[in-house]
Parts: sequence; C-alpha cells; structure tokens
Amino acid sequence: MDYTGNLPCDIADEVELLGIRVVRNTGTQLHCKCPFCDDRKAHLNINLGKNVFRCNRCGKGGGVLHLYAEANGISLNAAYEELCNIYRHGEHRPERSIQKKVIKQKAQKPQLDLAPASVRDNTYSNLLSMLSLGTAHREAMLNRGVSGEDIIKLGYKTTPAVRAPKIVTELLERGCELGGVPGFYIDEETGKWKMDIRGSGIMIPDRNSKGQIEAIQIRLDKVFKSKFNTFTSVDQYYGATASCCPHFVGVSDDVDSVYLTEGVMKADLAHYFSSLLGHPSAFVGLTGVSNFNQFRRSLEELRAFGIETIQVAFDMDMAVNDNVRKAREKVLQVGCEEGFEMIPRRWSPNYKGVDDLLLSFVERKKITDSIFGKL
Ligand SMILES: [Zn+2]
Repeated sequence: MDYTGNLPCDIADEVELLGIRVVRNTGTQLHCKCPFCDDRKAHLNINLGKNVFRCNRCGKGGGVLHLYAEANGISLNAAYEELCNIYRHGEHRPERSIQKKVIKQKAQKPQLDLAPASVRDNTYSNLLSMLSLGTAHREAMLNRGVSGEDIIKLGYKTTPAVRAPKIVTELLERGCELGGVPGFYIDEETGKWKMDIRGSGIMIPDRNSKGQIEAIQIRLDKVFKSKFNTFTSVDQYYGATASCCPHFVGVSDDVDSVYLTEGVMKADLAHYFSSLLGHPSAFVGLTGVSNFNQFRRSLEELRAFGIETIQVAFDMDMAVNDNVRKAREKVLQVGCEEGFEMIPRRWSPNYKGVDDLLLSFVERKKITDSIFGKL
C-alpha cells in the first residue's frame, strides 16, 4: 500500500499525540528524547519538512506511519487505520503506554545463551579461515612492527562485507553451529542466519588458556568512542551477547611467570616482540583493566598451569589516568591475596604500552645488529 501524500497527519502531530518530549525546536527540526531507548539526551531527530524521524542512539527511524507503529507495537496498516480514525474521524487514541510497550517488545526479542567455548572456537576458527587480511590492514600491521610472514601467524583478518551471505552459507555447510555464537543472528523476515558486522576493521581472535577462540575483537577502522569492538549480535533476533576471555599467548606448563597487560592485540604484539628479542615471554591480555571477573578467571587458569608470578605491565598512562591507576592497585592487591607474587612493572612513559616498549628494544637491536653484526 502506498500512503504517500495521503497521510491523515504530520509527524509533528504525532509527537504531540504520543507525548514525545521535545528538548529543542529549530523550526525545521525537533530534537527529542527517544522513547524507544534509554536516551537521556535528545538523540531522536524529527525532520518536520520531510516528515521523518531517526534516533542517532538506537537507530530507529522512518516516516509518519513507522513512528506510530513502532510506538504502539502495531503494523503499518494498523497504524494508518488508527491515525485516520484519530485525525479524520475524531476518535481517541487507544490507551497504550509507549515506553512499556516498547521495553516489553525489546525484551521479547529472543536471545540465545552463549554457546560453549568449544562451539564458538569451531565456528570462529572456520570463519577466520575463510577470510583474508586486506592490504590496508596488512600495511597497518607492518607499521606496528610485525614482519610479513609473522602477520599471517597472528591469524588476524579483515571484516567481511556487511551480512556476507556466502560466508554464512559456507559455515552452515561445514556443519558449524551459529546459535549462541556472538556475531550471528536470524533475520526476522527470511528466517535465515546472518552475520552482524557493526563496523569494519581487523578481526583479532581472543584465545583462552586452552587456545580456543572464545570471542573476536575488532580493531575498528573508524574510531568512535572506543578503538575496539567485540564481534556481537546482542539485541538482534536470536542473537547472543559477546563474552571476551583473558587472552593467553605463550602460556604453557614450562612457564613460571606471565606478564599481565590490557588488550588482546597488545598481548599478541608484546609476545611477538619478546620472541624477536630472544626472550619469548608469556602474556595474558585482559580486555579492559577494570574487568575484574576476567582477572579472577585468569588467576584460576594460571594456578592450573602452576604459574605463581605475575608481572603487571599495564599501560603507563596510569600516571595521568586515575581509573587505570586504581584498577592496577586493585589487581596487585587481589593477586597478592590469592597467593600470587605480583610484580609491578614500570618504564619510561614515552612508551605507553608494554608492546611499544618492546618494539623500541627491537628497533634498537636492529641498529646494534647492523653495526656490530649478529652474535
Ligand atoms: Zn533511540
């Protein structure tokens, strides 16, 4: 049905009808509190000339009918009929609360429980095996000090094009399970599995102490709020919430000490540089310094390896970042209480992360090698 030009009201009428709070009126646009999400500012933009709306926070948008249908949890046809009844026949709007209706709807969108680590590992390993690392991302890794062949060993890949139907088909053909694996969900209209790519970037496998990929981090090309995203399908139909694990690299039974750092890529790079320097060391990367659940889990896993010493090598911005400093203190304290030998590491603040510090050693080693020859 095409309703264009035959609508019983304007979008401005609806804003009043639905009781949407207008924060600012520019004459051509209304900036409102979005009734569909936890908007605390005025992310809902209403274009009065075009009769359209869009929330920059939750992404909901559309025309006159969409706004009414969304607010009332009804179809577009039903919305048209009700609006005609109200604006052309003077009837009252049926009593419905926007907020409750919508929150209920959101909760009704079925979500799946997180699949076991072995299932996620199988699906993610298969997924990454189908992808490649694009030229720009390869360059970026070279610039970070990783040499050609070693980039391949890291197993980093470029995010595929949005939705990537072929990849999903291939995964299913390989017998991979997609239910409960963050990043995959069911398309409500077609009933088919889809991939949820929310931003392009470098995909980095987050491996647990057994080497299983529990999650995939994405180093975003366009940094918005944060450099990293986790591959997720949270809030999608039959989607799943991502759950990162402490990232283990180079940890084995032969090791008695590990370095604790923040970030999956940082742990990978630091381990790689330590190997180049002839001192291959074990690293555990937490996805966030204040992630204490992850920290406690890493303690349990380290204990299982018989490792008793943890060198805390968080970023040196603790001098300026209060949150980092507090998190570091708590990590040191909890680790000690749990019976670990906790060794805080410090270095020149010219090098923010332990990876930056080690890379500077690698670069200096190259210079000394070139002057004196390798031993
Ligand atoms: Zn919103």
